[in-house]
Amino acid sequence: MADAAVVGSGPNGLAAAITLARAGLAVDVYEGAQTPGGGCRTAELTLPGFRHDVCSAVHPLLVASPFFRSIDLEGLGVRLGTPRVQFAHPLDDGRAGAVVASVSETASMLGRDERTYRRLFEPLVRKLDTILASVLRPIRPFPPPPLDVARFGLRGLVPASRLARRFETDEARAIVAGAAGHAMLPLSSPVTSSFGLLFLSVAHALGWPMVEGGSALIVAGLIEELGSLGGRVHTERWVKSLEDVGGARTVLLDVSPRQFVDLAGERLGRARRPFERFRYGPGVCKVDWALSGPVPWEAEICREAGTVHVCGPLEEVERSEADVRAGRHSEQPFCLVSQPCVVDPSRAPEGRHTLWGYCHVPSGSTTDMTEAIEAQIERFAPGFKRLVLARSTMTALEMEAYNPNYIGGDINGGSCDLRQSVLRPTAHWNPYRTPLKGVYLCSASTPPGGGVHGMCGMLAAQSALADLGA
Ligand SMILES: Cc1cc2nc3c(=O)[nH]c(=O)nc-3n(C[C@H](O)[C@H](O)[C@H](O)COP(=O)(O)OP(=O)(O)OC[C@H]3O[C@@H](n4cnc5c(N)ncnc54)[C@H](O)[C@@H]3O)c2cc1C
Repeated sequence: MADAAVVGSGPNGLAAAITLARAGLAVDVYEGAQTPGGGCRTAELTLPGFRHDVCSAVHPLLVASPFFRSIDLEGLGVRLGTPRVQFAHPLDDGRAGAVVASVSETASMLGRDERTYRRLFEPLVRKLDTILASVLRPIRPFPPPPLDVARFGLRGLVPASRLARRFETDEARAIVAGAAGHAMLPLSSPVTSSFGLLFLSVAHALGWPMVEGGSALIVAGLIEELGSLGGRVHTERWVKSLEDVGGARTVLLDVSPRQFVDLAGERLGRARRPFERFRYGPGVCKVDWALSGPVPWEAEICREAGTVHVCGPLEEVERSEADVRAGRHSEQPFCLVSQPCVVDPSRAPEGRHTLWGYCHVPSGSTTDMTEAIEAQIERFAPGFKRLVLARSTMTALEMEAYNPNYIGGDINGGSCDLRQSVLRPTAHWNPYRTPLKGVYLCSASTPPGGGVHGMCGMLAAQSALADLGA
């Protein structure tokens, strides 16, 4: 057995493994599935020649991540394609809110809200590096954060509904609602503004890119990097108990608290309770389409967007997310849609397109939302349904069967509510250590949470190395 064992080969497991291997440890990664990558895989889900990102597709958090800045992605064959329009949000009468790289150009499309938008985002974009350095790690009051970060934190605490209503136009309100909707919380919840502000600032400063050829190439690059440091990845090796990796000096688990409790078994005793109290968020129902042409969005600017938030005005996004919180399936769901072919025509045979989309649903849902999602797209892109050559749907429960980390279909590794934004996964000062000596959690259930950024893995590995005195 190597010095270190990592269970799970998602982006965080691989980031942990690379961090440990860089410190000179011999590392083995054990992945239960046939292919590595967790939420970062690409596959022909519909028809031959159509390559779909099974989970993550859009990578603002990767370009924001200090871990990924330490990786020469281009040297590893990973090329990012950034669309001219980072994301757009169509409205019923052919209008749309749209976010491009430049704050002033975006603001100039917002009429009466031009000045408010510039005043809000220009300073955030200027200070983004300082903000990212503080928020992509555990959030702690000590040492006190720099002033710009404290200001960001105070603004971010506010519900997104309130932040959006600082604007007058439907377009500006929709932009904020769509960005904040990634929190998978009702927009009336505290901290939802932090998602809106962060995702919008990153859109301006760094972009919302996609990977040419698909997200799986990120994982292939990380595995190559790990291999060059002597680390190995073993697939089709489900770890059923910590005894399976008992020979390693340090064990990092790219799993969520519920799975950790199962893996630890009796050894945890009463210490299991805080992990059992960890809360999971709603699930998602996802659809991938093979299309005979590009989506005919009525609002032309949506045709250039990498990501399209499909729901209509702020009030409808609010209603949809509130429905999910109340345990209902929204009839007009807030849909997150990505159009990889805007930057990467290689995803489909010539002239054809792929489309990726999901909506939030109650945890553990078995409801197929394909019809509701397609109706929403058709509403803003009449003629869309006629382009569908084939589709593939995964309900929330099927999402969990695909990857056991997605409990009930929750793709963020646990709810991002106020409590779990700060105390994630438990109230321990070091969120990566577990009560078991030498065993650490390194998944998206630890800070800074969901997304392809590898920071949970890197920070957990740094904790393990500090404890080893390495
Ligand atoms: C539909 C969907 C869309 C998404 N879109 C985006 C997006 O556009 N951008 C973005 O940044 N993020 C997105 N995400 C979220 C992102 O994919 C995750 O937050 C991220 O993958 C979490 O990484 P991780 O390493 O913590 O866990 P995961 O990627 O979930 O990896 C965990 C791995 O551990 C393995 N494993 C679990 N238990 C065991 C065990 N006992 N033994 C062996 N192996 C085990 C699993 O098989 C899996 O491979 C999306 C997720 C989904 C599902």
